[in-house]
Amino acid sequence: PLVMGIETSCDETGVALVRGCELLGDSVASSVDQHVRFGGVVPEVASRAHLEAMTPTVRRALEQAGAKLSDVDAIAVTAGPGLAGALLVGVSAAKAYAMALDKPLYGVNHLVGHVAVDQLEHGPLPKPAIALLVSGGHTSLLLVNDLATEVVSLGDTVDDAAGEAYDKVARLLELPYPGGPPIDKAAQKGDSRAIRFPRGKWGDGTYDFSFSGLKTAVARHVEDADRRGEPLVVADIAAAFQESVVDVLTRKAVDACVEHGVSTLVISGGVAANSALRALAEQRCREAGVELRVPRPRLCTDNGAMIAALGAEVVAAGLPPSALDLATDTSLPVESPLAI
Ligand code: ATP
Ligand code: MG
Ligand code: FE
Repeated sequence: PLVMGIETSCDETGVALVRGCELLGDSVASSVDQHVRFGGVVPEVASRAHLEAMTPTVRRALEQAGAKLSDVDAIAVTAGPGLAGALLVGVSAAKAYAMALDKPLYGVNHLVGHVAVDQLEHGPLPKPAIALLVSGGHTSLLLVNDLATEVVSLGDTVDDAAGEAYDKVARLLELPYPGGPPIDKAAQKGDSRAIRFPRGKWGDGTYDFSFSGLKTAVARHVEDADRRGEPLVVADIAAAFQESVVDVLTRKAVDACVEHGVSTLVISGGVAANSALRALAEQRCREAGVELRVPRPRLCTDNGAMIAALGAEVVAAGLPPSALDLATDTSLPVESPLAI
């Protein structure tokens, strides 16, 4: 079946067409430029941008796939988690398409979508797999027994998400928003051993994470340098901060694979685009005999393909469609791949 996926949980309007593990069309419109001067996503601005971008984005995805609306067999949409107004635009559009085309509607989980998208790049995910989800709003370690029906949370951040830490530290260093890419770039010219920042929840025997202490340590370092009138070595700070983040993420992810006897690790979400995270994960997975799967950067950040990919799984599993009065859920738990 041809599944159309619609994503509007944050500031990307994404629409894609997927058949099984094959990505046929994928179009993303982002309102990120409209949020830059605020240093973060403004929900009302994002909602309005989704409304304007929805129809053209659907049209572009169909064009790429060489398909017509009437070819679509099922519609998957992000039901949560995300911004209330933003989610509502996508879910309303999806309901309209489902009703007009008389095709089933599936409200799916954005976070599980971040994991499911890997299938479009590397084929069916072995069962079980461990997934490290690192995005702007979430940092979770998951035991994925089945993408459509059984996702178990092993741990979570207790404060900031990994991407949020990048964004906050970028602001401290006067780098642009979103902070991940400029820190990644700056760090490549820095020495990660120049400063030793704390590793939150390192070796505490849980799969939880903490990044707010690290952010505070960077803030203190910047204040100290200011007070002494010393210039900030942004590249070194970025490299040392990044080293602290990726060290803990990869250690705990590989530990989870070993403890659960799982031989596949997927890393996804916006922060999975990070070059240091990819490099260290590769090294540690190789040492542990774990197969590492990381989708290409474009698939790591928000897009419609992730929602279509999870939709295709849900359809293949034969799960019942969502009702046409499907509600959005801004805090849909990661253990619910499908919203009813
Ligand atoms: P969620 O999925 O939790 O709702 P989100 O959808 O806003 O959050 P994503 O789009 O998956 O998050 O990821 C955005 C985050 O990824 C931002 O915080 C951004 O700074 C970060 N990011 C993007 N590229 C990189 C990179 N190269 N290195 C580190 N972080 C990055
Ligand atoms: Mg975004
Ligand atoms: Fe996301």
